Amino acid sequence: MNDSVIVIRYAELYLKGKNRSFFENLLIDNIKKSLVGIDCKLRFNRSRYEVYDYTEETKILDRLKKVFGIHSVSVALKCEADIDKICEIAKGTDFVGTFKVSTNRADKTFPMTSTEVSATVGGAILSAHPKLKVDVINPQNILNIDIREDGYAYIFKDKIPCSGGMPVGSSGKGLLLLSGGLDSPVAGYMMAKRGLRLDAVHFHSYPYTSEKAKQKVIDLAKILVPYTGPITLNCIPFTKIQEEIHRCCASNYMITIVRRFMMRIAEKVAQMSDCGCIVNGESLGQVASQTLQSITVTNDIIKSMPIFRPCIGMDKQEIVDIALKIGTYDTSVLPYEDCCTVFLPDSPVTKPTLLRAEKEEKRLGDFAGLIAEAIDNREILHIE
Ligand code: ATP
Ligand code: MG
Repeated sequence: MNDSVIVIRYAELYLKGKNRSFFENLLIDNIKKSLVGIDCKLRFNRSRYEVYDYTEETKILDRLKKVFGIHSVSVALKCEADIDKICEIAKGTDFVGTFKVSTNRADKTFPMTSTEVSATVGGAILSAHPKLKVDVINPQNILNIDIREDGYAYIFKDKIPCSGGMPVGSSGKGLLLLSGGLDSPVAGYMMAKRGLRLDAVHFHSYPYTSEKAKQKVIDLAKILVPYTGPITLNCIPFTKIQEEIHRCCASNYMITIVRRFMMRIAEKVAQMSDCGCIVNGESLGQVASQTLQSITVTNDIIKSMPIFRPCIGMDKQEIVDIALKIGTYDTSVLPYEDCCTVFLPDSPVTKPTLLRAEKEEKRLGDFAGLIAEAIDNREILHIE
């Protein structure tokens, strides 16, 4: 037997002791879903998954790179763990310049040590390609040999790094506050990496904000889906609430109170959709609404679950770098307005107090009715 396979190595899961099979099953399920529509087969083989019987290598690698829980992949030739067969395959190398052979022997009963395997295979390569040179310190090429416990060996050039993290779904589900900006898609990506499945809420202020602004958020959710799996996006009509706040409350508290309403609605939607936490893209000190005092006053709304802010300690450039890596940057920077820019005061308070925010909110009439109406009129989109 001698065939080409894509070997999938998984990350961190080995930490999980008795729950290991739960993580493994989730990961294999997520891998299967990521490969839907591509002609290939998948099998499980002692802590390695293998894709085989495939033709579209690049497409498969692109998809696998986005599946959290995968540490690295390699395109490998597989053969029986027999030194002559390994040498035969190794001789087919297309290396130019210098090389070394690096052997890993998971099967400790294999009759040769790793060093002996590397030396024997290196010798076979040299006899077939006399122009090649061995350089064990700084080689231009490495041929890896991985001898597994099941009597087979993988022969491959590189380990292609993947996304790492934990399989999406292994940490439950969170509700992402998804704006059209740079930060919140990155926040969603980072929490999905820690195993959270995501639903999302987006607040829009039609007609102050356009259809294009909403479409931008849908597009961002679509870019996240290969990482996060399907996202249920709740588009919440926010205009009436903003108009009421604008009409009744002090203008420098506008943003503070808007944020508190976002949190109230988010908590309700999260509870209705079995989400165990809220995720947003706040970064400490980035704008007036993200000072410690502002965050304290908005944070106070949520009593029943944690709010995760994975960007809280990041500089803008660090967030931009991740947005570029995951492909959300180009969409995020499109110039469509966000609902937060509607009725924006000239000088928002940077050190709001809870007492004053609550006092301002008392000026609003049917508070609960406004929230219920917004939730009832939400549009639910299933982004896949
Ligand atoms: P982003 O780049 O994510 O828009 P930002 O730097 O513009 O963030 P803010 O506008 O202060 O910061 O928003 C802080 C967080 O509040 C956002 O990261 C997002 O999680 C949430 N948020 C803001 N506007 C909306 C919205 N229209 N719908 C849903 N969530 C929102
Ligand atoms: Mg924003």
